[in-house]
Amino acid sequence: MTIQGVPVYPGRPCPHSTRRGCDDYANRPVDPCVNFACGWIIDRSPLPDWMKPDNARVIVLFSKFLWQGAPVDLAVPVGRRIPPRSLTWLRHFAEERRRPLIHTEQVMEEGRFQEQQRWFGHGPEAFQRDLVRWQGQGRSLWS
Ligand code: SF4
Repeated sequence: MTIQGVPVYPGRPCPHSTRRGCDDYANRPVDPCVNFACGWIIDRSPLPDWMKPDNARVIVLFSKFLWQGAPVDLAVPVGRRIPPRSLTWLRHFAEERRRPLIHTEQVMEEGRFQEQQRWFGHGPEAFQRDLVRWQGQGRSLWS
């Protein structure tokens, strides 16, 4: 994501991060900061306790946008990849609830995180085709 013009990704924290919070919370950007709603902590979260991000190594954002009327959930790894146990849970949830899922993997080169992420879709074939097209168009999942 980009915060006030600065690229932010693993290994390159937001310049407003104090490691304990935000040093300009009142003026944080609307998107992604104000609109950010961690899926584990929202009211009536469907995530089980073990899916807390520091344990499951994934951050889930429910209903990031709509695709053909269906809410699309987004899952991003804490680190490089979402662990298999967490990803399996998310895929089952997507199938049961008929909610297309986008999950990402952080690109690494020579042991260093890069700005780019790979996207993967779980859902109908048409959704996956759209996902490939959006990536080709350079669409961002974040502001
Ligand atoms: S709330 Fe936004 S501006 Fe503040 S530290 Fe987090 S990402 Fe940066």
